[in-house]
Amino acid sequence: MLDLIIVGAGPAGITAAVYAARKRMDFLVVTEDIGGQTALSADVENYTGYQFITGQELAEKFEEHLKQFDVQLKRDEAVQRIEKAPRGSFIVHSKNGSYEARAVIVASGRRPRWLDVKGEAELRNKGVTYCATCDGPIFLKKTVAVIGGGNSALDATLQMMNIAAKIYLINLNPSLGGDPIMREKIQASGKVEVLNSATTLEVLGAKFVEGLRIEQAGRMRDLAVQGVFVEIGSVPNSDIVDFVAKNEAREIIVDNLNRTDVPGIFTAGDVTDVPEKQIIVAAGEGAKSVLGAFRYLSQIS
Ligand SMILES: Cc1cc2nc3c(=O)[nH]c(=O)nc-3n(C[C@H](O)[C@H](O)[C@H](O)COP(=O)(O)OP(=O)(O)OC[C@H]3O[C@@H](n4cnc5c(N)ncnc54)[C@H](O)[C@@H]3O)c2cc1C
Repeated sequence: MLDLIIVGAGPAGITAAVYAARKRMDFLVVTEDIGGQTALSADVENYTGYQFITGQELAEKFEEHLKQFDVQLKRDEAVQRIEKAPRGSFIVHSKNGSYEARAVIVASGRRPRWLDVKGEAELRNKGVTYCATCDGPIFLKKTVAVIGGGNSALDATLQMMNIAAKIYLINLNPSLGGDPIMREKIQASGKVEVLNSATTLEVLGAKFVEGLRIEQAGRMRDLAVQGVFVEIGSVPNSDIVDFVAKNEAREIIVDNLNRTDVPGIFTAGDVTDVPEKQIIVAAGEGAKSVLGAFRYLSQIS
């Protein structure tokens, strides 16, 4: 029986692990990867102490910090379900095993939202991607479509302006959202064709992406593209725990001590209903969650 299990090793989970190690707690981290979404960010300019750092570098710094401590870490391991155990503890089930602890911190973050159109699932990683930072260079001098109209779509478009030959920006709304400065750069580039009020119907292609079928002003159109970047937001990775309160967006509801409505289950970062989804916020929440869990464990023992 462990004191604590931390699920996830993004900024929230790693910071929680550093705090738990310094508190000498008997704990385990179970995670699919290290760094989480931080590694997907091209440039980070809002993490205190670093005026500029790439997301990949910051994720490496997080990992180095974690390695300073002798942390029990199950990496490349997806948690499938968290279950209440009869004696007030919790069992965390992953594909490789089951682990029991008196408290759990859910810091499982978010994942990209899918378009849910024909061809998307079949051509995922065969031209359909959710990360311009990771996959952008594959599309050197190709024609690509970026789907979305907010900051993440604008960010992906800006990144692809240096790589692709031509970019279609497919926006469902009548005009683009996001930051004006990003919109201005896109509009001035001459490389980007913005298609407003456009609905994506299908990703076309046999083995790899060959096109995108859209509908605009009642007219169907097939665009010849080799890459499709889906940038329409994200959803919380909260399905692993089904007995805590969540909001309509399926985010776990958390109080200012990082408690859920179930004693012993704490949560931090982007998986929660804290509105600001930022690295520094997730890291701070991760620290708070361990302090909350530590207090809880001292009270019940
Ligand atoms: C493209 C992009 C650019 C961004 N740029 C910035 C920026 O410049 N500045 C900024 O402040 N923020 C930025 N953000 C937001 C920032 O990355 C997030 O707010 C932050 O990473 C959230 O941290 P987290 O630890 O809560 O979750 P995540 O970073 O999502 O980490 C979640 C962790 O949980 C693990 N996990 C998920 N499900 C499971 C499971 N079932 N079992 C085990 N492990 C699991 C994941 O592997 C990962 O380790 C950006 C986000 C994106 C997508």
